[in-house]
Amino acid sequence: MSGAEPAGETRAERAQSQLAELGADVLLVHGAANRRYLSGFTGSAGILLIGAEHRVLVTDFRYTVQASEQAPAFSVVEAAEPLEGLADAVAASGALRVGFEPEHVTHAGFLKLEARLAELTPPAWLVPVEGVVEQLRVIKDAGEVDVVRDAVRIADEVMARAAAWIEPGVTERALANRLEAAMRDLGAEGPAFDTIVAAGPNAAMAHHQPGNHPIAEGEPVIVDLGARLQGYCSDITRTFVAGAADEQFRRIYDLVLEAQLAAEAGIHAGMSGRAADALARDPIAAAGHGGDFGHGTGHGVGLEIHESPRLSTRSDDTLATGMVTSVEPGIYLPGWGGVRIEDLVLVQDDGVEVLTQAAK
Ligand code: ZN
Ligand code: ZN
Repeated sequence: MSGAEPAGETRAERAQSQLAELGADVLLVHGAANRRYLSGFTGSAGILLIGAEHRVLVTDFRYTVQASEQAPAFSVVEAAEPLEGLADAVAASGALRVGFEPEHVTHAGFLKLEARLAELTPPAWLVPVEGVVEQLRVIKDAGEVDVVRDAVRIADEVMARAAAWIEPGVTERALANRLEAAMRDLGAEGPAFDTIVAAGPNAAMAHHQPGNHPIAEGEPVIVDLGARLQGYCSDITRTFVAGAADEQFRRIYDLVLEAQLAAEAGIHAGMSGRAADALARDPIAAAGHGGDFGHGTGHGVGLEIHESPRLSTRSDDTLATGMVTSVEPGIYLPGWGGVRIEDLVLVQDDGVEVLTQAAK
């Protein structure tokens, strides 16, 4: 990962530097993507404790070797019972105000941890601190962008194959399976999310699950897929037609494409998520289809397929250089189908770099 700022010390320090302001002495990191981002540890179980002088990764015996290799900036503590390991780590840090991620801890987990920390001498207590690591993750560094570019390249290639493989009689599910196998063949760890293939009336549902529906001549076919590479996701949607496109398809497709290109041409750092959304929504609404575009224009993509920022009518986000976001307007007509076109873009000071290269 050339130019990469590796997970570890620097990122952990950046998270730690925000704690005083949030009223916490240490931060517990339960979220899997946050844990990986800060420490480099990719295992499925583990909790980080980050303080001014303490960086601890509590995990179980399945992962201690892997954790020591992947997270050299952290002291790995093996605990058969994570709650006990965590309580010991908190006690050793001397923290009284223990920040935790409310969006990543279950209510039952919170109650148990709260009770256990209260038994310490002196007792410690939990302080909810929301989105600390997510806010660090929203701006991608050069190394992260390189990985996303590679994941996008795989998705582009898979989408080119989709264009060749779509023909009347092929079922949605058969095509989805073939596309996911192609991703792996091209070096992806796997799909970043369940591949969507939605044909005909099914394409009127933005997140249809592929079924046994055979693609029919003239139907719109929405294909939405992404590859996962080194934990990072890509995300692309193209809409095809099996055989000849009719008048209706061409009209809807051209309108969605116009909206999509308008957004890509207009988005830049400093713009609000709402203003970015409006760039795609306004031309669709002006053509009388505002009610048929029922989702946001875009979402951030990184270690998770949906992360900040949001490009939508309700977004409170402001776009900044280094964010990676999708641009994906769509029009859905019940009974007929739909059209969605999605690229990933890298936000820059004066515009965007469109990462996705697949034909549209
Ligand atoms: Zn998508
Ligand atoms: Zn998307």
